[in-house]
Amino acid sequence: MNELINRQYYLASRPVAQPTPAEVPFRDVPVAEPAEGEAVIRNMYISLDPAIRGWMGEANNYIEPIAIGDAIRSSVIGRVVKSNSDLLAVGDVVMSLGGWENYTTGPAAGMNKLDEHSAVPLSNFLSVLGPTGLTALFGLLEVGKPKAGETVLVSAAAGAVGSIVGQIAKMQGCRVVGMAGSNDKCAWLTDELGFDEAINYKTCGDYEAAIGKACPEGVDVYFDNVGGEILDAALMCLNKFARVTVCGWISSYNDADAPGPKNLWQLVAESVTVQGFAVIDYMDRFPEGVGQLAEWVMAGKLQFKEDIVDGLDNVLPTFLKLFEGANKGKLIIRIPE
Ligand code: NDP
Repeated sequence: MNELINRQYYLASRPVAQPTPAEVPFRDVPVAEPAEGEAVIRNMYISLDPAIRGWMGEANNYIEPIAIGDAIRSSVIGRVVKSNSDLLAVGDVVMSLGGWENYTTGPAAGMNKLDEHSAVPLSNFLSVLGPTGLTALFGLLEVGKPKAGETVLVSAAAGAVGSIVGQIAKMQGCRVVGMAGSNDKCAWLTDELGFDEAINYKTCGDYEAAIGKACPEGVDVYFDNVGGEILDAALMCLNKFARVTVCGWISSYNDADAPGPKNLWQLVAESVTVQGFAVIDYMDRFPEGVGQLAEWVMAGKLQFKEDIVDGLDNVLPTFLKLFEGANKGKLIIRIPE
């Protein structure tokens, strides 16, 4: 009998800085047989998200940490190769919570069927029409609550989430300023995505002065993807009754000793609302959100980039691109069929 073998990257120990191959090694193991109600999928796309770094740690991170010895958790898109459920047939393509692995075995009820014959490339369901686009949409509109004429500042603005946040904010009639880590990224924001200004945070010098210059009327909504010193500077530039969407703090994910914000008194001084946000809180509204995002994409109002890297064996060095700013759009591993 031909046994299916699964290459799987797993958590051997919890990283203290950037995850290393010793902390996240791989093993080749037999594919787990599907129990009643389960299916096995052969993964085609694996989503690489900064949040995965949080799940490698011990702290509560809106879903439970990855247990030592378990596969690294990730959203995946795959094709059903074995099914022990009436819900899925061999050949179906699904999106699921899976892992950094060739095959994922899990409950069929948690696998959402995708139409591989539609005009939409499958990878889009991990990017603009998936968690990335939904994070931008709900995080900005439901938490940031931007109004026409207001100024929206977004960090990691040329990234997967940030680039969509800025474009949606423009559609709301806002003045939009992005912060990103290179001149090329800044030029993409202003020249192609319609941002009003972009700040290269690696060369601008004093963050507070740079934000103040780019936002002469102050900041009404800060969409925070990075935390740290940029958050501290943004706090000093907020207007009365400003809103801060705390979406991610990527500057501290690999550094447990990163200093926390010092300027929190500004929340009192300017009557600011700060709200943490997790996209999974909006799960019941995902169909509505995907519909809205698809409408904007089809109307040519929303641009997005995907950075697709072939080969499961590249998964760890590719993941690290997120922390170096080396990704050019939503980072995805493709495992050719
Ligand atoms: P991105 O595509 O934005 O990639 C991460 C980017 O962050 C890098 O390209 C880099 O861009 C920037 N970056 C990395 N390190 C630093 C640093 N020290 N200081 C400033 N910028 C840095 O990833 P995503 O769009 O997937 O995620 C963006 C943020 O959104 C993350 O914080 C993530 O955790 C969060 N998120 C939160 C969700 C939620 O439900 N709360 C859901 C999805 C994402 P540059 O070259 O500009 O430095």
